[in-house]
Formats: sequence, C-alpha cells, structure tokens
Amino acid sequence: MDFNTIKFEKKKIESWNNTLSSKAYILYPKNILELKKLISIIKKDKKKYLIRTGSCSYDSKSINPDLETIVISLKYFNKITKLDFKNKFIEVEAGALIEKIIKEIKKNHLTLFSVPGGDKISIGGAISANTIGKDSTPGISSFGDALISLEILSNDGKIKKISKNKYNLNKYVGAFGNEGIILKAKLKIKKIKSENVLLKTKILKNINEVRKEFNYKSDYHYIQLDPFFRKKHFAISFKADSVKSNKNYYKSINLKANIFEKEIIRFFGFFINSLTWKIFYKFFFLLNSNLNMILDIHNFHYNSKYKHLVPLVCKKGLLDYEILIKKNFNSEMSKIIDTLKKNKIYPMYIIVKKLYRSKKKFYYSFNDNGYAVAISLNKKKLNYENFEEFKNLLNKNKYQVNLSKTDEKLIKFKKNNNKLFLSLYKKMLLDRYGLSGSRA
Ligand SMILES: Cc1cc2nc3c(=O)[nH]c(=O)nc-3n(C[C@H](O)[C@H](O)[C@H](O)COP(=O)(O)OP(=O)(O)OC[C@H]3O[C@@H](n4cnc5c(N)ncnc54)[C@H](O)[C@@H]3O)c2cc1C
Repeated sequence: MDFNTIKFEKKKIESWNNTLSSKAYILYPKNILELKKLISIIKKDKKKYLIRTGSCSYDSKSINPDLETIVISLKYFNKITKLDFKNKFIEVEAGALIEKIIKEIKKNHLTLFSVPGGDKISIGGAISANTIGKDSTPGISSFGDALISLEILSNDGKIKKISKNKYNLNKYVGAFGNEGIILKAKLKIKKIKSENVLLKTKILKNINEVRKEFNYKSDYHYIQLDPFFRKKHFAISFKADSVKSNKNYYKSINLKANIFEKEIIRFFGFFINSLTWKIFYKFFFLLNSNLNMILDIHNFHYNSKYKHLVPLVCKKGLLDYEILIKKNFNSEMSKIIDTLKKNKIYPMYIIVKKLYRSKKKFYYSFNDNGYAVAISLNKKKLNYENFEEFKNLLNKNKYQVNLSKTDEKLIKFKKNNNKLFLSLYKKMLLDRYGLSGSRA
C-alpha cells in the first residue's frame, strides 16, 4: 500500500491491561487532508482500519487482528480550537489527551466533566467508551452528557457536523469507533473555584459505611476497598472539593515510565502473592488514611505513573470487570465479597463510584442509578475452578457490565437484558476487527 508522504511506523502495540498485543502499521496523518487520503487508499485496497490514539484501551478495543488492518493514530489532532468562558464550552480535536486539556484549562478555573483516571486517554477514546468520572450527577452522568456536538468523518468519507440531533449524536457515544471517525468535539465545561481541590480521606469499616459515605455530597468521590476486606481498614473514601485558593500547589510529576522502571515493575510480578499483596495494601491504607490536604486538580486526577504499570505485574494481564449494582448495594456487594473470599480470589484493586442515570440514550451506556464497582483481577492467578463461581455470580445476577473494560462479557455473556444491543455490538466488532480473544 502506498501511503505517500503520511508518517508511519511499524511496531508492537499492546492493550493497556496486557492481554493482547500485535505488530501494526501505525499511521499518523497530520491533518484532515492526509486523513481523508489515507482512508480512501485503505478503502481502495479493500483493507480495514481502526483508530488508536491513547493507550488506555482494554483487550481488543484498539488492537489490530492482523498486519493488514491499519492502525490510525490521531495524535496530531490535538488542539483546543475554542474555549468559551461565557457559555462554558470547549471545542477540541479528538486526538487531544484529556490530561493535557485539564492542565491547560485549569488556569482559567475551568475543567471537564467525567474525567477518567488514565493519563493517556484521548477525547475520542473517552467519547467512544462513554467514561465515568468521579463526579457523576443527575445532570451529567457520564462523558456523553457533556457532549454538545461532534465533527466526524463518516464511513462514506464525508465530514459532517452533528449537533443536538439526539440519535445521530448519541450513537457515537460508546461506539468504540464503529460509527466513523470523530474529528472534533464540542463539550460543556465547568467552573471551579481555583486550580486546587481539598482532598479528604476516611477509613470505612464495612459495606454499610461505604454505602452511607456516598450520601455525603462532594465534587469528586470514589471509594477503594481492601482486596482482603480486613475489618480495620475495609475501605477508604477519597473525596475532593473545589476550593478557593490562590496558592500554586501544582507538582510536576513525570507520568512517563521508562523501560528500566517497567522492567523493575515486571520483576515485582514474581513476588505477588496473597501475603505480599496484603502487606502492600496495609501500607496503602496507612499512607492514605485521614488525609486533609489541598492539591492541584491535575495532580488529584493524575497523581502517579505507577497505576499505569499495574498490568505489568500480571504476566497474563488484568481482567477488569466493572459492574453496576442498581439496588440492594449492601447485600449484592456482600455476595461478591463472600464469593471472592471463599475462592481465595484477591483482586488487584476494587473501586466503587456512585453513578446517576443519564436522560440521554447513548449507543452504549452504563446507564442507571447505582454503584459502579470495578474489580480488577490478575489473570495468572485465576485457575479455572475457583474463578467459575465468581463468574457465575456475575452472570446470574445479570449485573450490567461496562463493555469498555473486559471483552470477556462481550464474547461469552449470552443471556443479557440488552440482548439486541449486545449482539449488534458484537457483530460489528467481529466483522470489523475479528475479535477472537486469543491474539496475544
Ligand atoms: C489507568 C486507567 C484509568 C481509567 N479510568 C477510567 C475511568 O475513571 N472511567 C472510565 O469510564 N474509564 C476509565 N478507563 C478506561 C478508558 O477510559 C477507556 O479504555 C478509553 O476508551 C481509552 O481511550 P484511549 O484514548 O486511551 O484509547 P484508544 O485505543 O485510542 O481508543 C479507545 C476506543 O475508542 C475508539 N476511538 C478512539 N478515538 C476515536 C476517534 N477519534 N473516533 C472514533 N473512535 C475512536 C478506538 O477505536 C477504541 O475502540 C481507564 C483506563 C485506564 C487504563
């Protein structure tokens, strides 16, 4: 294939959770003209393509099944084209990293809604996964709710602006690239009191305390559970509120890990067992308990590169389930915890966020009032018998599962409330990317 002057490289790419990898031709168009030219060459040659700009996708979402499938990065589509203070919106190109936008617009005491935790997530990736932040409200539940309009390159090669036409706009939210390429997004933004937030943490002793803690209002909130559910520190609540403060608390943190650091973390994987993981979490709770400190909002969202390295300690990668518990949080969570304990499954982490139902109907959405529970498991440690009971529990209770995380459900979960959608989604992915689950 002749790409003419378009910049490209051939390299190995990996899913963030370290389950799939593939050699790929990655093309970096610099502008719309180059992108359109590239798409027309791909079509003429009857090839396939997928978009991959950030590096926080799970499983097959942006891994090419073969070398014939071209990977397109929109990393040069990274500009903020408009920032309207009065009407509180931003227009930004789809390849811009959310982390960079947060850093840029905080100077104007503004920020985005539904910011996901990964520091290498693009605007296109966040729309395509309809991300959930730590600030879900009945007004803006997830990323798609802040969307005002989109500029897209449709599958027939035309640039289209899609504004508030409900179906057309909403079908791009959670579509994982199936609907066409997102070029630009206009998003609602919110005013903050300063560049800083006041972070408070609190140790919680049981599930009931976890549920009650979510009743207290704050701008940002999430709760992390001890994977061993020890009574002394069952969970820790992280709450942050925008504060008035002119002091500059920003700390420059290098979020990019070098090869040396990655190899050290990989090496630590050999020592991960229930004892060392228990000790690790002991320190985690000790270091984070009873914090009451002001910090920069960018540092609050992106406080360390090490969470990005977690999959490296799992030789076979991470299996990340995010489920929505709509009702009876205490009893449903107890069932999950009992099953994990009984089968000696100790997750890498468990994080709970409160989620509100959106008024919009997105193509894919984790959409209801409830608690989003992310449970991340080390694939290497899961032998068949002890894992089945946990999986059966998730299936039996028909929890809604966040498709942006594991593909496991996508491939195997047949009896789903939303059967029609799931089969449609699956078909599109299968047709397009040849999803197989064993391409590593
Ligand atoms: C450390 C970490 C923390 C996370 N925290 C959260 C969180 O708090 N909340 C949450 O909901 N999720 C969270 N996620 C999940 C993350 O938001 C999704 O996996 C997201 O889709 C990743 O986007 P990306 O830009 O990194 O990936 P990419 O691989 O670039 O894109 C992801 C998907 O979107 C499609 N896509 C990307 N750009 C475009 C475009 N311009 N047009 C059309 N399709 C496009 C891709 O084809 C792919 O299917 C987290 C992930 C990690 C690794």
